[in-house]
Amino acid sequence: MKKTIVLSLLTALLLSNVYGNEHQNPAEIMQSTLDKMKAIATQNNQNSTESNTTSDVFDYKLKATKVSDNVWCFLGALEGPSKENAGNMVNTCYVKTTDSYVVVDSGPSYQYAKQAYAVMSAIKKLPATTVISTHEHDDHWLGNSFYKDEFKAEIIGPKYINDNYKEGDKTRMFNTLPANAIKGTKIIPVDKIPTEVLTLSIGGEEFEIVPVGTKAHTDEDFFVYMPKRKVLFSGDLAMNGRITSNRHGSLLGQLKAIKMMKAKDYEVFVPGHGLDTSKTGMDDAEKYFTLLHERIIQALEDDTEMTELSEVIPMNEFQDRAMFKALNGQNVQEAFTELEFSEE
Ligand SMILES: [Zn+2]
Repeated sequence: MKKTIVLSLLTALLLSNVYGNEHQNPAEIMQSTLDKMKAIATQNNQNSTESNTTSDVFDYKLKATKVSDNVWCFLGALEGPSKENAGNMVNTCYVKTTDSYVVVDSGPSYQYAKQAYAVMSAIKKLPATTVISTHEHDDHWLGNSFYKDEFKAEIIGPKYINDNYKEGDKTRMFNTLPANAIKGTKIIPVDKIPTEVLTLSIGGEEFEIVPVGTKAHTDEDFFVYMPKRKVLFSGDLAMNGRITSNRHGSLLGQLKAIKMMKAKDYEVFVPGHGLDTSKTGMDDAEKYFTLLHERIIQALEDDTEMTELSEVIPMNEFQDRAMFKALNGQNVQEAFTELEFSEE
């Protein structure tokens, strides 16, 4: 698609240069055409970034992907949050029931949630009255206040959102997102805190909200399973196409969580970050944590020093995944420290 546009632009510019500059030789014509293309590309880039950071409201340009009957997801970029993506680097989903929507993670801002709802309203206009927050990282739940304001939605999530975040706190998204994306975002508490498996039946759809029960990606994470649809939402317990960040997590907890999720009978798998929603979408995360575990156990047996870790455990199988350079080294170090002091 992009290639076609570039080629036709090149042809058009070449033609205009050929006919407009009779005294130039072919090399000069080619050079001046390329210069013009470069200028147009730069101009376009500036226009799109400028208009999105200077306009009243950041346009997230959200597109819903249907992953199963009655289930749509907004799949974010494989990168960290930035001014440019305004936090659209996370996956959030909508489940349509007979008379409402159930939202699994509300995204990084009020504006994001509002725009996601607008997209879903074009599919079917229903109130979004239940919101499930899979864990406390703020790219996943800062949209909650939109659903509370609009629909008095019940927010289901971990206690750590209430313990660790208060209205007015300047969290990671507040410090990273452009002003026109974060504006209107409020921190609100969750209403219901499951401490064991919570089964919900809403408008003909069944949900199991399962707490891992131990530190995994964060101090407490939920995954959401829809037994009738065979859909599993992992939250950040699994990602694909990119490396996870285990900075608040536990390698052993992650392995436990993956085992719990694998025990479910699912056909569709929705990661917290990543574009692969197929049945095998968890394989990457499982392999990463399993290899990391094996290799750290070996390194400990070999009395490996912390300083040798990057050489001994390079995790090269994953070097083509997004964010590998930024996150892998830290994951290895933290997992090493965890296992060094664990009883297992
Ligand atoms: Zn996340």
